[in-house]
Amino acid sequence: MGDPDRMPEVTAEDERWMKRALQLAAEAAAIGEVPVGAVVVLDGKEIGAGFNAPISGCDPTAHAEIRAMRDAAARVGNYRLSGATLYVTLEPCTMCVGAIVHARVSRLVYGATEPKAGAIESARRTLEEPHLNWDVVAVGGVLARQCGQVISEFFGRRRADIRRLRNQASGKE
Ligand SMILES: [Zn+2]
Repeated sequence: MGDPDRMPEVTAEDERWMKRALQLAAEAAAIGEVPVGAVVVLDGKEIGAGFNAPISGCDPTAHAEIRAMRDAAARVGNYRLSGATLYVTLEPCTMCVGAIVHARVSRLVYGATEPKAGAIESARRTLEEPHLNWDVVAVGGVLARQCGQVISEFFGRRRADIRRLRNQASGKE
């Protein structure tokens, strides 16, 4: 925290939109999906929103970022979202970083890092790969603690549910 190289230009506005993304993450948790939420903002207005829903949607691409960008592109009637900022509670995966570049999103703000699959700074640094033809300004660590907490709580609850079911099945309860 506080490392100027890691957190350039984080504003109160960024925290406000990250809270909105956290609300969307809670919607994912409510239907049993890993809680990740995303919102697309252009000129201070929300133009797209989405939460993670691959299982319920039978859609492997239904990550929060993809759904938020689809929503935004449909609403503005343009597949390019240049000038927009994408807020997401978790560091994006390779697929989502690819889509962010295709959409020409100008700025990416994320919350918690994703050590296993994060494609900005964790598993790989996709935005630094020379073949990409679009520069995205990426800022991580915004409300990182809250964003990470909703995910660890979700998996904690799920582990407890599985234990309870196992115990029931073996007649311990
Ligand atoms: Zn993704």
